[in-house]
Amino acid sequence: MIIKHSKPSIDSSDVEAVDNVLASGNLSQGVKVKEFEKKLVGYIGVKHGVAVSSGTAALHLALISLDVGVGDEVIIPSYVCASPFIATRYTGATPKIVDINPHDFNINIESVKANLTKKTKAIIVPHMFRTPAEIDELLNIDVPILENCALSLGAEYKKRKVGSFGRAAIYSFYATKMITTGEGGMVITDDDDVYQKLSETRQYDESSLDILRYNYKMTDFQAALGLSQMNKLSNFISRRTEIAKIYDEIYSDLEVSLPETHENRTPVYFRYIILLKNLEDIQYRMKKKGIMCEKPVFEPLHKSIPSLNLINTDYVYDHALSIPIYPSLTEQEIAYIIKTSKTFLSKS
Ligand SMILES: *Cc1c(COP(=O)(O)O)cnc(C)c1O
Repeated sequence: MIIKHSKPSIDSSDVEAVDNVLASGNLSQGVKVKEFEKKLVGYIGVKHGVAVSSGTAALHLALISLDVGVGDEVIIPSYVCASPFIATRYTGATPKIVDINPHDFNINIESVKANLTKKTKAIIVPHMFRTPAEIDELLNIDVPILENCALSLGAEYKKRKVGSFGRAAIYSFYATKMITTGEGGMVITDDDDVYQKLSETRQYDESSLDILRYNYKMTDFQAALGLSQMNKLSNFISRRTEIAKIYDEIYSDLEVSLPETHENRTPVYFRYIILLKNLEDIQYRMKKKGIMCEKPVFEPLHKSIPSLNLINTDYVYDHALSIPIYPSLTEQEIAYIIKTSKTFLSKS
């Protein structure tokens, strides 16, 4: 048996939705994109959505729309993929890399405060694999928050969807995210000025050369897939939650530690992370048994900045392993993952 680390959930209704658009002949950005934007912002509870070609494009446009540019600084936690870092570099601004909390993997407030300067123009806040970030504390800082919800579509903070707190928020619909359009992303915001700038810069056609514009549009057949996936999102989340509950029960009896949970922060279980001492060894042994466990972040951002020493990020990078969790995981696969984990991780 080979159990992939992550996998999209695509069924015949998704195929039909895409087919219909392909058959219609209207392939590029059109009515389906508008509909997808409306559906997502309606779900989150904000006013505006601008669909784009990727989560990275969404970050880039969002930063531009927050007036981030050359000479500015953007605060980013180290324990995240390269995308927020490179999107910041696209604008000419300088990324300021800060530490995380060791037990929920979210951006560390003290580390943020220690890195604020007069040049700080935005803070990118990813809600990490399980628990959303401490939003109230972040909103108390007098710098715009850009929520990164690429891993947390549907997660809640105090019963309100994440993505509705920051000046703007971004999503990714890459193949293995909470919902997918193959590649794709969206920026959402309640701010009319930010929305205006997003709309102006997403595309270059039928406009003047007065500002830099991009071609970051989403196609209508991708949006049709996104709409079809949105119909299943609540099922996706409840299935992930079911599996996580089963895992919680098993792993809490094994030789690992589990991330902190917080009252009033409702996860969507994009990843199931365990922390363990002999990470490489266990990862290797699980893979030999056909279970593809991965380090959830390829390489922390501060590793490429020799002067930076971020102990919490280093700790998590050295101990965190991601166990397969996704809606299409079968009962048989779950049972096999549990059985194999017990063999390698039982307390002696
Ligand atoms: C996936 C992801 C991105 C980038 O999204 P793409 O669609 O791959 O460009 C950015 N930030 C986080 C936290 C992500 O998980």
